[in-house]
Amino acid sequence: MAGEARRIVLLGAPGSGKGTQSVRLASALGVPAVSTGEMLRAAVSAGTPLGERVGDILATGELVDDATMAEVVRERLAQADANRGCVLDGYPRTRAQADTLDAILEATGVSVDAVILIEVPEPELVRRALGRQRADDTEEVIKTRLEVYLENTAPLIEHYRRRGLLQPVDGDRPIPEVAAAILATLEVAA
Ligand code: AMP
Repeated sequence: MAGEARRIVLLGAPGSGKGTQSVRLASALGVPAVSTGEMLRAAVSAGTPLGERVGDILATGELVDDATMAEVVRERLAQADANRGCVLDGYPRTRAQADTLDAILEATGVSVDAVILIEVPEPELVRRALGRQRADDTEEVIKTRLEVYLENTAPLIEHYRRRGLLQPVDGDRPIPEVAAAILATLEVAA
């Protein structure tokens, strides 16, 4: 796939480093990093109607409903800067979202090129999440997020593996090493 890979999904548990790696990868590929979590947090801060709707959900670590997320992602990917691709961080998180993403991309004649799975052992995930100290990162919320991930999102690993799109990367090492491994996996020159 070499330099052709432009629509990349980053999968990984909360605390796996998806956010950090998506920004680095997006900049290496020259495409935007699209973080649904960040978009939702921005909506909450700005007090938009979307923010009003999802604020309580974000505070618990549960998932925003698929229909709302479909709207958010459809609008974002329709923006001009996403024409040449994107790195998705935090979407899809459910099987329904994976199907929606396929449909959104298919409508413009493209598809997911690769899914990078950032693998980090669970104790390290908890350690990192506690160190992150975001307002919504209490121990209870962290636990909920991990459970939600295991139940709803982890099944996407098998889904994408079956489609031949999954590329696992060891995320339990320094940030630049993980970044380099992702680029190597995608056969993109650093
Ligand atoms: P994140 O920064 O990716 O951990 O996302 C923060 C929070 O936003 C999550 O805990 C969810 O409540 C919500 N969220 C972000 N992306 C999604 C998504 N694809 N589906 C449902 N909820 C989401």
